[in-house]
Amino acid sequence: MLWLCRINNPIIESGITMRKKIIAGNWKMNKGPDAAREFAVEMTPKVDGGAADVVFCVPYVSLLAALDAAKGTFVAIGAQNMHFEDAGAYTGEVSPGMLKELGVKYVIIGHSERRAYFGETDDIVNKKAKAALVHGLMPILCVGESLEQRNLGITIEHVRIQVKIAFDGISAVDAEKIVIAYEPIWAIGTGVTATAQQAEEACAAVRQVVAELYGQPIADKIRIQYGGSVTADNAAELFAQPNIDGGLVGGASIKADFDRIVNYQ
Ligand code: PEP
Repeated sequence: MLWLCRINNPIIESGITMRKKIIAGNWKMNKGPDAAREFAVEMTPKVDGGAADVVFCVPYVSLLAALDAAKGTFVAIGAQNMHFEDAGAYTGEVSPGMLKELGVKYVIIGHSERRAYFGETDDIVNKKAKAALVHGLMPILCVGESLEQRNLGITIEHVRIQVKIAFDGISAVDAEKIVIAYEPIWAIGTGVTATAQQAEEACAAVRQVVAELYGQPIADKIRIQYGGSVTADNAAELFAQPNIDGGLVGGASIKADFDRIVNYQ
């Protein structure tokens, strides 16, 4: 069965789409090459080859070390950002082609920290998603509301707009390669986790927009993660929700028990 999971994702059995979970660690600005290699060497055997796809999204300078440590395993390496242009006068930036050349498979796009501190707009997120796909990188595309928006009761509207703009001009074939991470901003790095019901409601709404844009079969295939203070103690309940296909994990992804999140079942 395991080999089937690896080859066919998602698996369609008797007309029911079973999406394989995907659990990605966002290491943020932590771990230079030495520390990244050490952690990846230690963690990879504990999370490799299980029921979920696993991705370590590491700082640019640590990509090579992480790629080397994960070589020969199913653990994929991701970047946390990229520019949308192929090359040019963009001092300090990294292009999608450069990441691809290294062997990177995933790239986080539109993380709320990048939106908040680096001026990333929905339009930029759309450009980056398209550029990643052109270069064969799989975007982990982040959406999510602020506490103010939640309190105003506009969570679903906000997330719907973010998804619509992010997917603008993306074909159905490419759309299903995107992993969407629903990450309420108020839950990121705060220790306050969305309840399973709140997370499920938003992830279901995200799937609904994808269905409206691309039809139900694509919506049934696309993987939607929850992110925001996921820990080894709350992962099982969150990931058991019908529309939650794993998590984007920040702080807990560089802890020694990250494997408990991946092996939550
Ligand atoms: C994140 O960085 O995407 C994130 C969800 O962080 P944390 O798990 O620390 O809330």
